[in-house]
Amino acid sequence: MNIHEYQAKAVLSEFGVPVPRGHAAFSVDDAVKAAQELGTPVVVVKAQIHAGGRGKAGGVKVVRSLDDVRSESKRILGSVLVTKQTGPKGKQVNRLYIEEGSTIDRELYLAALIDRATSRMSFVVSTEGGMDIEEVAHNTPDKIVTVSVDPVTGICPHHVRRIAQALHLTGDLQKQMSPLLTGLYKAFTEKDMSLLEINPLIVTKDDRIICLDAKIGFDDNALFRHPDIMALRDLTEEDEKEIEASKYDLNYVALDGTIGCMVNGAGLAMATMDIIKLYGEEPANFLDVGGGATTEKVAAAFKIITSDPKVKGILVNIFGGIMKCDIIAEGVVAAVRDVGLRVPLVVRLEGTNVELGKEIIAKSNLNVTSADDLDDAAQKIVKAVKEAA
Ligand code: GDP
Ligand code: MN
Repeated sequence: MNIHEYQAKAVLSEFGVPVPRGHAAFSVDDAVKAAQELGTPVVVVKAQIHAGGRGKAGGVKVVRSLDDVRSESKRILGSVLVTKQTGPKGKQVNRLYIEEGSTIDRELYLAALIDRATSRMSFVVSTEGGMDIEEVAHNTPDKIVTVSVDPVTGICPHHVRRIAQALHLTGDLQKQMSPLLTGLYKAFTEKDMSLLEINPLIVTKDDRIICLDAKIGFDDNALFRHPDIMALRDLTEEDEKEIEASKYDLNYVALDGTIGCMVNGAGLAMATMDIIKLYGEEPANFLDVGGGATTEKVAAAFKIITSDPKVKGILVNIFGGIMKCDIIAEGVVAAVRDVGLRVPLVVRLEGTNVELGKEIIAKSNLNVTSADDLDDAAQKIVKAVKEAA
């Protein structure tokens, strides 16, 4: 789960991490009031969407008067911001963050993430802050330094020294890095974050180190123990189909292709997506209905797939182990009866109760094509979609 910049900064400041003062605003009047309350000569009006690259797209404005706060807020609030990270459709701005202005001497990059290779939390830092870090990684990879932290020791002075050195911070600036890194490390581990990105981390003209931007992603599997974080969820930022899927505890990710997939098991779901691509079409989603799915869950999954206008065909691929084929068949039949079927459907069942499952589908008199194996199934659905196009 991701949260907004202003929420991320509030979380970080709970851990003593320095961030500029600011207030969230949901209307132009609120924005002006927030700027008044800050009382600083320079104020930054920042669009709050779950995507970076706002600055370049006109979503971050440094202004010097209340009139400009009003006009910029009016311009940004409600507008659709298209940034490098939003995709071409962009994202509508429903919230603003009004922040005190900072005078920037240097912009640095600092991120914390879980490094799968070492199974540890790592800090990734670079002197090239404020820029697209992917570009830095591509063009000047030597300017990115990774420091991994042993969970047994936590942050130690040698981590701080190495990171400060990589960022060319000496003297008092190096000293400031110690509580900052300790705070970030503590926030990351205690709140079960999966990604924390500060871009830019700045050195101000009066020699203070501040987090000027903050992006946080949390580990969904640990959210149950953080009701305070869960309360920060902004559903307007999420895909409606993914929200619906999360209600039924389905592992669903919306994609851009044309073939909707319903599969049990993440590995089989990946293989199904691969084979669809192999035969020349693209999957419209990843969907793992899980091991112990009920008829109700299967029906919900089916409805989510059919509600997607991009879906031109559906492939159900189930290997019945714990999951029984007849349960899947009943779920599919119930869902088709309920919402209808406007696209071709190919079903491949194998495993426990497969004969019973096939019988349920055959007896339903629905327009469903059966397939014998995954190869056959993928070819059949791709052919049906191509013919219909
Ligand atoms: P992003 O474009 O979505 O990553 O948004 P950021 O919060 O990182 O802001 C983009 C850029 O705006 C930063 O890299 C800074 O150069 C600039 N910026 C943001 N806040 C301030 C500020 O308080 N003062 C100044 N001078 N520039 C700022
Ligand atoms: Mn940024």
